[in-house]
Amino acid sequence: MVVGTLRNAQLVINQQAIFENVKNARQHTDEGTDLFVVLKANGYGHGAIQVARIAEKAGATGFCVALLDEALELRNAGFNEPILVLGITDPEFAAIARDHNISLTVSSTEWLKSAAITLKQVPSETLLNVHLALDTGMGRLGFQYADELKAAIQVLTDLNDVMNFEGIFTHFATADSPDDDYFNYQYDNFNKLMAVVAKRPKYVHVANSATSLWHKACDGNMIRFGIATYGLNPSGTDITQLPYKIHPALSLQAGLIYVKLVKKGRSIGYGATYTAQDDEWIGTVPVGYADGVPRKLQGFSVLVDGQWCPIVGRVCMDQFMIKLPKSYEYGTPVTIIGHSGDKQITADDVAKYLGTISYEVICGFSDRLKRKYV
Ligand SMILES: *Cc1c(COP(=O)(O)O)cnc(C)c1O
Repeated sequence: MVVGTLRNAQLVINQQAIFENVKNARQHTDEGTDLFVVLKANGYGHGAIQVARIAEKAGATGFCVALLDEALELRNAGFNEPILVLGITDPEFAAIARDHNISLTVSSTEWLKSAAITLKQVPSETLLNVHLALDTGMGRLGFQYADELKAAIQVLTDLNDVMNFEGIFTHFATADSPDDDYFNYQYDNFNKLMAVVAKRPKYVHVANSATSLWHKACDGNMIRFGIATYGLNPSGTDITQLPYKIHPALSLQAGLIYVKLVKKGRSIGYGATYTAQDDEWIGTVPVGYADGVPRKLQGFSVLVDGQWCPIVGRVCMDQFMIKLPKSYEYGTPVTIIGHSGDKQITADDVAKYLGTISYEVICGFSDRLKRKYV
């Protein structure tokens, strides 16, 4: 996709914020525990390569991604840290992962058998590192029962000429909830499943950001640190207490491209859904739903010169309109996420308005928006 480099609209990524978040996390992890920063979906929209560089400097010891392609992007950029693909990779591509020293997630014995066939077809001195996923209650990936896990470990052991049992892990569905019941249920299941693992692999990991922040006692020697890297609270606003400060790294700004006085009674935008109640100053902002500013954001207030300005009319593909308190010059900054004057809009504010979570908001910004690193 073409990046809009010649338009005044950008995601501004604060590198210091990412550095501090990872450094703080590092200082709060136990000795001997690895911190893998999660870089899936282009580093939650922040730029995977740029975030990896900062995370590395701040003490991250590895990376997690969702797709094999995302892992290859990091390897091709020269990162030598361990990388784990959290999604399921087609066994057809197992040799690619092995040859780039990328660890893969495994959810079934059939996968191990199919991958072994591919690996043997392209012989190599090196082994493919695999992590067995345990489904303790997330219902997404992983072994659910002790006997199937036991069988998989047996198959894995028999295939030790092509694969290495490097890790085992689970994922909690409610680590970001103030109610611990389901978390404890999953943790019990995890311990029951782990009871059949005779020899613990190098990495045993259970913690996403929320687990690392609020369930410190959890066992494991690696953290999959995602959303908190980017300075966002995994619970949104449900749990406000954090063991250390995290700073949001992303803001979204654009410059006004047009300002005009609209006479009372004139309407704005597709569907003429907004009609000026008076003579009103209306500004046009050069981002739209093709950039990841959803149409549902109509009515949400953005900031100009430290003042709230509502989005009037429907958000278009490339632009939206706002009601201004007075006339402003061409290029005046509009803050959609970030600070303006003494006010702030967070990704959680946007998420709340849209009825979603901050994760979806930040991942939704398209590649057309340029990323500016400060
Ligand atoms: C995305 C993901 C994470 C990171 O979660 P955050 O809530 O962003 O910290 C960790 N583990 C798995 C399996 C994931 O898919």
